Amino acid sequence: MTHPSPWRATVLTLFPEMFPGPLGVSLAGRALASGLWQIEARDIRASATDRHRSVDDTPAGGGPGMVLRADVLAAAIDAAEIGPDRPRLLMSPRGRPLTQARVAELAGGPGPLIVCGRFEGIDQRVIDGRGLEEVSIGDYVLSGGEIAALALIDACVRLLPGVMGKEASGTEESFSDGLLEYPQYTRPQLFEGVPIPEILTSGDHGKVASWRRAQSEALTAARRPDLWAQIPPKIPPKAPNRPRRQKTPKNKTDG
Ligand code: SAH
Repeated sequence: MTHPSPWRATVLTLFPEMFPGPLGVSLAGRALASGLWQIEARDIRASATDRHRSVDDTPAGGGPGMVLRADVLAAAIDAAEIGPDRPRLLMSPRGRPLTQARVAELAGGPGPLIVCGRFEGIDQRVIDGRGLEEVSIGDYVLSGGEIAALALIDACVRLLPGVMGKEASGTEESFSDGLLEYPQYTRPQLFEGVPIPEILTSGDHGKVASWRRAQSEALTAARRPDLWAQIPPKIPPKAPNRPRRQKTPKNKTDG
């Protein structure tokens, strides 16, 4: 299904000049130039109403830093006139960690509104009142939501139809099947005395596929036990003639 208008990211930020930024080059940049997606960066400050165009104030209850004002940010969200079908995201270290599955969902929709926080964050009443979904890009703190928004948009854009050269390259990589990607090699055949694993140059596609699968599984088990625990246990290959009883109890019987 194609949407009537191209996928679109609407970003609310105090620094609209940060967009498209790095998304204006390479894969995403070419796709942007050819109209496969759109980006609109809107200046939150344009919704400030007082003489000094102030967007932030000191935190109620005390403490360091400043907080983005509820009235200004809510006005900026309302002015963006986002329809009810577009997700409304807030980049936030408190949010649910972004996953490839959520990225694929977002890429499959009309494209989100993304609010970028600054300072100590934003007034809770805007999060609640405008139904913002908090999204984190990892357990570390950035100085603003813009770089997080760029990361999220980049991850979405490369999944849009027509953006990546080969259809397959989006479905075979890390996370898409719950596993990390296998190691990649290219020419030269011999690099600093290390050859490309023989199997990859054998021309045997079946063997290559099972080698890659085994590598992916080993890497995932070693590096990301959290992901590995979610992989359903393998269905054992059919016994040649009659069903055999299992001699040893399997490691993973449930979960
Ligand atoms: N005081 C806040 C951090 C504010 S950082 C706290 O402790 O939670 C300023 C802004 O940067 C945030 O409002 C958010 O928009 C953005 N940001 C920082 N780290 C982020 C992360 N890991 N993921 C997404 N956005 C982040």
